[in-house]
Amino acid sequence: MHEFLRRIPKVSLHCHLEGSIQPETVIDLSVKHGIELPDYDDPGDLYSYSDIYEFLKMYDVAAHSVRDHDDFRRVTYETLKEAADHSVRYREMFWSPMAHMESDVAYGTAVDGIIEGMQDAEADFGIQCRLIADINRMDTAEHGYEMVSIIAENPRPELIGIGLDYAEAGNPPEKFEAAFQLAGQNGLHRTAHCAEDGPAANITTALDLLKCERIDHGYHILGDDAVVQRCVEDEVVFTCTPKSTEWVYFGNGMANHPIKEMVSRGLKVMIDCDDPPMFKTDPTNDYIEAADHMGFDSADFKRFVLNGIDGCWIDDSTRQQWRQSFGAEIDELATQLTD
Ligand SMILES: [Zn+2]
Repeated sequence: MHEFLRRIPKVSLHCHLEGSIQPETVIDLSVKHGIELPDYDDPGDLYSYSDIYEFLKMYDVAAHSVRDHDDFRRVTYETLKEAADHSVRYREMFWSPMAHMESDVAYGTAVDGIIEGMQDAEADFGIQCRLIADINRMDTAEHGYEMVSIIAENPRPELIGIGLDYAEAGNPPEKFEAAFQLAGQNGLHRTAHCAEDGPAANITTALDLLKCERIDHGYHILGDDAVVQRCVEDEVVFTCTPKSTEWVYFGNGMANHPIKEMVSRGLKVMIDCDDPPMFKTDPTNDYIEAADHMGFDSADFKRFVLNGIDGCWIDDSTRQQWRQSFGAEIDELATQLTD
């Protein structure tokens, strides 16, 4: 099963660039730019925290270590190389422009470095990538709007959507209605981290007010049957990340993670790895955690991959083609490994 999960072709819709930087790279870049890091004995010590706020603090430290064009190219290339090793064929990757604006990095420096890393990774490993710029919901509505304005004034074909992340408590989606409206007017797709540590009502707001096309996390949907029913009927895709959220929110064991019930209630779930090195995971490991602790079988994982393809912001003919080719490849692998 583990070998099957490593080898099946995957799409990745919930992975953050700044949360994907290996600790050794953070150290390299901090030395290069003379940035002070928290104390550590082993590089991995940098990525240990006791709550979401400590995690977000370290996430920002990692983000601030990335400063020039080559840094952005490097961190992008490294995470896409890892993803390709785990049979990820296509990723729509989050990044946090506001974290870099805080450290006075020009928008063009960041986005063009990332795009060069994407192009190099595609040339070397065949993995395709597109970008989603995330608003930091703990920041002000005005800064969120400003971020979207900058994106609208400096369009890049590789940047296809916006998202909303950081801590949800006290920062409901409606705070960023204007920013999301501006994104829609500029032809950008929309998604949001929702009902991760907030109520199911945030999902309804994200869908109806922010016009989100999919939902990131969404676990607290289980607190409201009407929202569950609506999302089942509308076939809303949920991008779920077992490992990072088991630790932060549901520390009572992976077997009790809400993903299991979300799937049994008929919600359309796909699985991804969120911030892989920061939660000591990788693109296969989150699938493995789901297999080992939630009882999913190969048919379930095929469905999760196809759900992910349904959630991708790609044209319909590519979607049909991928559903067919990924599906056939997964069936073939299942047969081979069973034999
Ligand atoms: Zn996330």
